[in-house]
Amino acid sequence: MSEVLLDWFRELKKENTITVKKAKEAGEKVVGIYCTYGPREIVLAADAIPVNLCGTHEETIPYAEKDLPRNLCPLIKSSYGFAVTDKCPYFHFSDFILGETTCDGKKKMFEIMQKIKPVHVMNLPQDPDLPSSLALMYAEMVRLKEALEEKFNVTITEEKLREAIHIMNQNNRALKSLHDLNKNKPALITGMDLLSVSWQLGFHTDRLERIKMLDALVGDIIQHYEPVCDENTPRILITGTPIGSGCEKVLALVEECGAIGIALENCGGYKTLGIQIDESDKRDPLLLIAEKYLNISCSVMSPNHRRVELLEQMVKDFKVDGIIDLTWQCCHTYNVESYTIREKAKNDWEVPFLQIETDYSESDIETLRVRIQAFLEML
Ligand code: SF4
Ligand code: SF4
Repeated sequence: MSEVLLDWFRELKKENTITVKKAKEAGEKVVGIYCTYGPREIVLAADAIPVNLCGTHEETIPYAEKDLPRNLCPLIKSSYGFAVTDKCPYFHFSDFILGETTCDGKKKMFEIMQKIKPVHVMNLPQDPDLPSSLALMYAEMVRLKEALEEKFNVTITEEKLREAIHIMNQNNRALKSLHDLNKNKPALITGMDLLSVSWQLGFHTDRLERIKMLDALVGDIIQHYEPVCDENTPRILITGTPIGSGCEKVLALVEECGAIGIALENCGGYKTLGIQIDESDKRDPLLLIAEKYLNISCSVMSPNHRRVELLEQMVKDFKVDGIIDLTWQCCHTYNVESYTIREKAKNDWEVPFLQIETDYSESDIETLRVRIQAFLEML
């Protein structure tokens, strides 16, 4: 049964494209989002469909390099490449594109992307702990709300926002319960399946259906209890830059080399799943949403103690044997922050640590395989 449900998620890619096309034909509004900082709650409250935009495949990078420098993060180049070639159906069908000033490369790329489609760029603060950062984040939530209201000629009410907060809380609760299955030793789901399910859901248009299917999958895996590896399989925590379908080579190699990707801290994985908005809090819902998104443990924030705290907890909860920190080439924030994570892993958590810096190409697969095998042998 779990395989049947997992297949439903694996096959979602094809269905998602058809569903978003049908939704557009039925007059629904689609908002394409590039980053975890994009507040899905406000989009849902505008009665629009939030979808992730493609940026994890190598195939569009050569097209991007006609306009962008080659020594730029592959995620940025791939995202731009999908837009400029019109190969991302979600970009194609989006009525509204939501970007953000996370890293320098991305915010400058959005300036150029404007010639393809207008992009609403959220201006993010840098230090999430400053009171002025909350004020700025709140102002950006208000600005986004107003932009969506104007674009779609709707009124985003407090009631709609609270409904959307509930849906996103449920969404994160359900997805977290899937990831949490691997607190069990031995693991109950492979890292590749965790990634596949989490990734495909980002393109799924029906939030309520996805919550239902996730709950069914988790319930079924618990009921049948069929571990996917044995007690002695090395348990590897993957952290760092975002991974998704098309750039999952490091995770795939970890599992091909006999270990298990026990937990994924990256965006699309565990990074945001524990962040819930208190639904009994009666303050302005836009303020609650601003607080939520300031709590994301992304390296673009400085300082970023939240990522260290999250990883420390995950090392314990998932009984981690080793950490692999993935850095996309030219991603300065994750690359520099790797020092902090390495020091913590070595001195405080006493867990072996490996940083891998790579891009989306397959050219270094065999070199990476040798490095990962050597890392696993020393565990
Ligand atoms: S890693 Fe940071 S910048 Fe990249 S998608 Fe996640 S939150 Fe956004
Ligand atoms: S991986 Fe790094 S450089 Fe690339 S978009 Fe994310 S934060 Fe920016």
